[in-house]
Amino acid sequence: MAYDYDLFVIGAGSGGVRASRLAAMSGAKVLVAEEDRAGGTCVIRGCIPKKYMVYASEFGRSFEHMKGYGWKVEGVSYDHNLFLDRMHREIDRLSGIYARNLRNAGAELVDDRAEFVDPHTLRLIKANRTVTAGKILIATGGRTSLPPDVEGIELAITSNDMFHLKQLPNHIVIVGGGYIAVEFAGILSGLGVKVCLVIRKETVLRGFDEDVRSHVHEELKRKGVKVIANASPVRIEKEGEKFVVRLSNGETAAGDKVLFAIGRDPNTEGLGLDKVGVKLNDRGGVTVDENSQTNVAHIFAVGDVTNRLNLTPVAIREGQAFAQTQFMNLPTIFDHADVPHAVFCQPPVGVVGLTEAEARKTYGAIDIYRTKFRPMKDMLTGDEERVLMKIVVRAEDEKVVGVHIVGPDAPEIIQAVAIAVKMGASKADFDRTCALHPSIAEELVTMREKFIPPELQPV
Ligand code: FAD
Ligand code: NDP
Repeated sequence: MAYDYDLFVIGAGSGGVRASRLAAMSGAKVLVAEEDRAGGTCVIRGCIPKKYMVYASEFGRSFEHMKGYGWKVEGVSYDHNLFLDRMHREIDRLSGIYARNLRNAGAELVDDRAEFVDPHTLRLIKANRTVTAGKILIATGGRTSLPPDVEGIELAITSNDMFHLKQLPNHIVIVGGGYIAVEFAGILSGLGVKVCLVIRKETVLRGFDEDVRSHVHEELKRKGVKVIANASPVRIEKEGEKFVVRLSNGETAAGDKVLFAIGRDPNTEGLGLDKVGVKLNDRGGVTVDENSQTNVAHIFAVGDVTNRLNLTPVAIREGQAFAQTQFMNLPTIFDHADVPHAVFCQPPVGVVGLTEAEARKTYGAIDIYRTKFRPMKDMLTGDEERVLMKIVVRAEDEKVVGVHIVGPDAPEIIQAVAIAVKMGASKADFDRTCALHPSIAEELVTMREKFIPPELQPV
């Protein structure tokens, strides 16, 4: 049977765009449907605007630091609307580039929502027409989630709204202890907003190394963020201009805004997957194998909609592997191991590989090298911020299986370290690498003493 297109891609975000461009450049006839704006979450309401907000926020602290170096800083002020305006102009530019790159590659991009009609047919909702395709790629990403059981939840905002606030709140309550909550706690606190972070467990950043978690938690508090732990929101009430969040432990938290950042759901609602029999996993994501293939042979899915590792570069690599395998005669499986990741809190986190607990569980005997120190720059600024560096080593052969950094430039450092870890470097390889002085990163090649927790040290 002849189809209208060789490939139909639903969603022009990170994964969909990479897959579409490569497939189109290999000669396939490709249609991409995007219901919002080309670029997807990363460009429009994720990594990019978030990182610009981190930059905006960090300048505040830099002005404080400058005083320690002899600068007189007077009459400094911050214009949030000016910043937003400039940031959104850049986002518009980037979104335009995504759309242009798709078209330049030969793919057709339509501004429309797509939904399945049958296994080879999709309906374009605005255009009200159907289109058939030989292969279909679901790259619809994820969306913010809100708890239905919290009374007054309609009064809360999500990360999507954070990039459009015309006025910064004086006080904000942030619910959640994951990437987004911790990043916005840092951003807003740096911009002078009083932040109260409500987490339902003992500490933030579940899934990260325990030392990283406690370090970030302490740094948040040191920067003036109030952390209420072991508490969940029960109800949000409006009292005058303020919102009051009533918590499960009996406490309350009040702010001009309440931000919920409690995870994201795969974007599958209303897609018509039930009509085509595509299976979902227990976390609501589209179930795929290592080739990003669903249980329906000609339907594939990449990126956040599969809920594997929800990061931009991962969506891109999954999209690329799909296009190479299906359209370029270059069978490729993306390896999800040792993907570096960062949390852009302040100071930021950069990690690659296993946590200490994961390594102990996987390999049994491991060695830990760990250091905490005040960076040289802060000896003159007076800032008490500490850097954490930790190397997790498999004892049997000294292979480095995890590196964890919290400190200035940690994401930049970890990107380079990830190459060594991916190549299988050993602790001896780290040790014979000459230090670059003076730098923060040099500690990675100068740690010689194994870390023994105080409770295990001989008396
Ligand atoms: P998306 O980029 O979400 O693209 C999906 C696209 O599909 C969207 O444009 C959507 O409009 C469209 N769509 C959905 N349904 C339909 C339909 N039926 N028809 C047509 N179009 C449809 N990751 C990092 O690596 N680093 C970071 O610093 C980082 N920061 C983040 C900060 C925030 C606040 C958020 C929310 C996320 C962040 N992420 C970060 C995660 C990253 O943005 C995602 O992992 C990435 O964008 C996923 O790409 P994707 O292609 O799977 O989906
Ligand atoms: P995360 O999964 O990172 O964190 C969710 C947080 O919300 C956890 O602390 C969780 O607590 C808490 N939580 C979940 N449900 C509830 C509830 N009902 N009530 C109160 N708290 C709750 O999600 P985010 O929304 O922060 O981010 C979504 C994803 O986006 C990330 O996982 C990441 O993949 C991606 N992202 C990546 C970034 C980066 O690369 N720098 C930046 C931002 C997002 P608990 O730990 O107890 O389960």
